[in-house]
Amino acid sequence: MSEITTEALTAKLTEEEKDQAIAWLKSKSKSPVCSTCGESGWVVDNHRLALVSWDRKWSSPAVAIECRNCGKVEMFRTISMGIDGPFGEDEDG
Ligand SMILES: [Zn+2]
Repeated sequence: MSEITTEALTAKLTEEEKDQAIAWLKSKSKSPVCSTCGESGWVVDNHRLALVSWDRKWSSPAVAIECRNCGKVEMFRTISMGIDGPFGEDEDG
């Protein structure tokens, strides 16, 4: 994927991006079971979220998945998932 800026990203994930996230998770997960409740039903959130350092000098887009049973949320960096990035300067720090 070509280099992009954070301004170019939309908050709403496209269906294609959500499908990409699901495929990536399936390829990486040894067990899809929730570590809190033991259920295995997950939903990908519709929004691209941001991981931001306290001083706001570093940020990274992320996808959240939520356990349908207990609401536990896990986050994964979209750059690691191949959905976004790389971000160049935003990756520093
Ligand atoms: Zn759960």
